[in-house]
Amino acid sequence: MGAVMAVGIFAVFTGNGKGKTTAALGHVARALGHGKKVCVIQFIKGGWQTGEEQFYTSCPGVDFHVRGRGFTWKSEDLDKDIEVARKAWSFAQEIIKANQYDLLVLDELTYLAHYSMISEEEILRSIGERPPSLHIIVTGRYAGEKMIEQADLVTEMKEVKHPYKQGVKAQAGFDF
Ligand code: ATP
Ligand code: MG
Repeated sequence: MGAVMAVGIFAVFTGNGKGKTTAALGHVARALGHGKKVCVIQFIKGGWQTGEEQFYTSCPGVDFHVRGRGFTWKSEDLDKDIEVARKAWSFAQEIIKANQYDLLVLDELTYLAHYSMISEEEILRSIGERPPSLHIIVTGRYAGEKMIEQADLVTEMKEVKHPYKQGVKAQAGFDF
C-alpha cells in the first residue's frame, strides 16, 4: 500500500432543515481534536451572539471570524450589505491562498451567491484553486447547481419537523 495522501475535501451542507452550521462546527471540533488548524468565517451575522462565536473565539487552534452583518432586507441598506459581503469574501480568498489551515468553514456563504452579491463562478474558482490538502466546508440554503457539481461531498438537510412551526422561538444554546 502506498502512502495515504491528504486530499482536501470540498463539502457543502445545504437544504432547508436545521443542522448545516452545527454539522460544520462538529467538523471543527473533530479537526481540533487531531491538532489540525482551523479557520471559520461566518458571512451572515444574525441579531444574536452565538454560542459558537463565544466558545471558539477563545479556543486555541481555531481562528473564528464573524465577517457579515445580518441582512435587513431594506433596500437602503443593500449597498452596505453588498460592500460588507464583498470584503468578507476577499478576506476568505486571502485565507484560502495563505495555506495556513487544514480546515476552512465558510458558514452561510451560499447566500452571497444566491443573492448575487458575489458570482458563484468566482467562489468556485477560488475554492478550486485551494491548497491540495485544505478541506473546505460551505454551508447555507440554496447551494447552486454548479457548486453541487464541483463539490466532493454534498449533504442536504431536509426539514421533517421544526419546533419553530409550533411557535417555539430560537433558544440560546440550542439554536444559536
Ligand atoms: P444550525 O445553525 O442550527 O445548524 P442551520 O445552519 O441548518 O441551523 P440556517 O438556515 O443557517 O440553519 O438557520 C439559522 C437559524 O435558523 C438557526 O437558529 C436555526 O436553528 C434556525 N433554523 C434552521 N432550520 C430551520 C427551519 N427549518 N425552520 C425554522 N428555523 C430554522
Ligand atoms: Mg447556518
